[in-house]
Amino acid sequence: MVKYIGIHELQTFLASNPIERVIESIAAYIEEDYLRWSHFEKTARLASHSAVGVIELMPISDGNLYSFKYVNGHPQNTNDGLMTVTAFGVLADVNTGYPHLLSELTLTTALRTAATSLLAARHMARKDSRSMALIGNGAQSEFQAIAFHRLLGITELRVFDVDPAATQKLCQNLAAYADTGLRIVRANSIAEAVRGADIVTTVTADKRNAVILTPDMIEPGMHLNAVGGDCPGKTELHQDILKMARVIVEFEPQSRIEGELQQMPADFPVTEFWQVLSGTARGRDSEQEVTVFDSVGFALEDFSALRYLDQQLGDDYVQTIDLIPQLANPKDLYGAAISGIPVKASQSPAAVVAA
Ligand code: NAD
Repeated sequence: MVKYIGIHELQTFLASNPIERVIESIAAYIEEDYLRWSHFEKTARLASHSAVGVIELMPISDGNLYSFKYVNGHPQNTNDGLMTVTAFGVLADVNTGYPHLLSELTLTTALRTAATSLLAARHMARKDSRSMALIGNGAQSEFQAIAFHRLLGITELRVFDVDPAATQKLCQNLAAYADTGLRIVRANSIAEAVRGADIVTTVTADKRNAVILTPDMIEPGMHLNAVGGDCPGKTELHQDILKMARVIVEFEPQSRIEGELQQMPADFPVTEFWQVLSGTARGRDSEQEVTVFDSVGFALEDFSALRYLDQQLGDDYVQTIDLIPQLANPKDLYGAAISGIPVKASQSPAAVVAA
């Protein structure tokens, strides 16, 4: 049998496990796997583009476990009451090739993206960071806000979205965090939200080369957590910002295709995230430096999230499904195929022999 974690199972788990604690735990799994960088067989994700969106497969293996995520990105979907990003994934055993866990990854992607942003900010943002601008207040935004507030010490959130209803939803969802000292300021423009912020998170969805941030908005010492630009022709930062900053990417070959980095020449220097986590490269050089985490989402983060789900969600939160046949004789697949069909006399082996 294959383990199955659906939306219901994860919702039940989250009902008794605070989101910030889950994000912190997933961050630990992600860090552990980034520190094993050389163990992984890595590849840029396989993307199938259409005029309105993209469907991607994200495979990775460490030689013992293999995982893939199916994920889409369709910014127009919300006009029809559908989400921009949905996902599911599989964790499998390399030795047998058998899938071990099939899981929802839509909620999990939001959790692991916030966990990855958090890890990056811990190494790249100034230690005294207390305010964050959050541009784009859609599905991912609360997860980012909670991670930065509860786990990095952000106490002021300046929020902006071209859709005021999205900002309204964000403010309502985060109202309870006033008790833990979070002050939310609704800005009238991106520039107003960004002015004076220590960290700027961009998590907008628009399938074009948008220019959410321009160089004149960037102040010395800012950390930019650029999450929304994640496929060819879909960016958020003016390219001159990259020229003035230290740029960290997850997996360089993929980020050159999909990240903010796609706007830059092939030899534009970047550092990979694993180098920062392992201490072989610095995330920030000085209090004045501008840093950019050019996040696109890498398969390793989903591998880590699937490992987390597999190890941390006990039996109460997991179902099993018969995705793979279990055969008494592994060569008798046909026997399994006809096992549900009542045997008629005319189909019995004896009848065939007699004929
Ligand atoms: P969403 O559609 O729910 O929210 C996006 C929000 O951005 C919307 O509310 C929209 O109104 C707003 N927006 C669009 N253009 C804007 C602009 N010019 N200024 C301000 N706001 C603007 O999408 P989501 O699920 O929150 O995802 C957001 C983005 O993050 C997507 O592009 C998605 O592909 C990306 N993403 C990246 C990662 C990663 O690992 N880097 C992971 C998940 C999602």
